[in-house]
Amino acid sequence: MTRVMVILFLFTVYSQAMVQQLSREFLIDLANKFGTPLYVYHAEKIKEQYERLLKAFKGSGARFFYAGKALTNINVLKYIREIGCQVDCSSINEVLLALRAGFTPDQILYTSSNIAFAEIEAAQGYGVSINIDSISNLEKFGKKFGHSYPVGIRLRPNIMAGGNLKISTGHQDSKFGIPLEQIDQVVRVMKDTRVCVNALHIHTGSEIKDVEVFAKGIEVLFDIAGNFPDLEIIDLGGGFKVAYREGEAVTDIERLGQKVAEEFDMFEKKTGKRLKVWFEPGKFLVSEAGYFITRVNVLKESATAVFAGVDSGLNHFIRPMFYGAYHIIENLSNPHGPLRTYNVVGNICETDTFAENRPLPQINEGDLLMFRNAGAYGFEMSSNYNARFKPAEVLVRGGEGYLIRRRDVFEDLLRNQLEVL
Ligand SMILES: *Cc1c(COP(=O)(O)O)cnc(C)c1O
Repeated sequence: MTRVMVILFLFTVYSQAMVQQLSREFLIDLANKFGTPLYVYHAEKIKEQYERLLKAFKGSGARFFYAGKALTNINVLKYIREIGCQVDCSSINEVLLALRAGFTPDQILYTSSNIAFAEIEAAQGYGVSINIDSISNLEKFGKKFGHSYPVGIRLRPNIMAGGNLKISTGHQDSKFGIPLEQIDQVVRVMKDTRVCVNALHIHTGSEIKDVEVFAKGIEVLFDIAGNFPDLEIIDLGGGFKVAYREGEAVTDIERLGQKVAEEFDMFEKKTGKRLKVWFEPGKFLVSEAGYFITRVNVLKESATAVFAGVDSGLNHFIRPMFYGAYHIIENLSNPHGPLRTYNVVGNICETDTFAENRPLPQINEGDLLMFRNAGAYGFEMSSNYNARFKPAEVLVRGGEGYLIRRRDVFEDLLRNQLEVL
């Protein structure tokens, strides 16, 4: 009896602790049903990631704004809202998508980057929270709204961090944010226009595995906090790293949660002020929930390599080429075949290499190859290059796969074109 109870208990703990990856058989079924190339997102995995954050940051009561730009399918946004997460937008259209998904303005944050003032005015009109990233726009905002509409400012903390230079946004040559050394000018704008700055924002980059980088960011912001009498919120952006390879170092969310709680407690002791902490995770929430399935069109042997050419390319999944990103590939059709070495390449008239010299179970033409960690910045960065169709997207929820975007059809290629000749 007790042994049964222990087993039941362990089973409950285990099944709560880990959402299982989608099985090979299930993914093959989806590929056969909806065709390839195909993006598949696992809803419960997104929820699990969100709950991990809530748990890890309980001590500081952090709020999380999903960086919608990672994956904006309206169903994903609706799901994110359903599980209680807020949303961070990188364009006014993302704000509109968020509103369409049912988020209320107080659940929406708009973090701008070198945008026209008209777009900031539009965001203000919708009543969402705004992070302004230039002194000129802050000044315009102050002149127009004075003290009546609190805003955040995005600062460039001059910290080098992130998986590679392309996704590193806080360093001293970065275009993002107001350079920290120009804080005097911000203070002058506040004096001149009475603009109410209630939040300080930084986003130092993507794939930050080092908790110390976040700690450094907090330190930088706390150092200048005294300049902002209306300050209520510290927004530390996104950039939590997930594993792209087995066993790869990731952001220690639990330790970071603890560290943040300590730092904010300490700040309160020192200043008597309790600040709120916000984060904007993108990748952390949706990366691992995503699978990208392609089919092998052609095998080609040459003296130096065997090429496996799939029915997709940098038009659908650009991370390997754009960032040099590594993605685990699985041969769904022949998982136990003998290992051979392949260059997995695309069908686009570019050198679109997904993986070089990659050992994979023997590939045959027609096999299904699946890329892991395809949820973030996958479909979202896709295009119609080479006049190819964008892939379909499927959301798996409660064990059921729902088509949430149909594959393009020929008419989509001509949709906005005007035939004047
Ligand atoms: C892209 C972005 C994020 C999300 O970054 P991840 O690496 O996906 O977590 C958060 N905040 C801002 C302002 C961003 O531009």
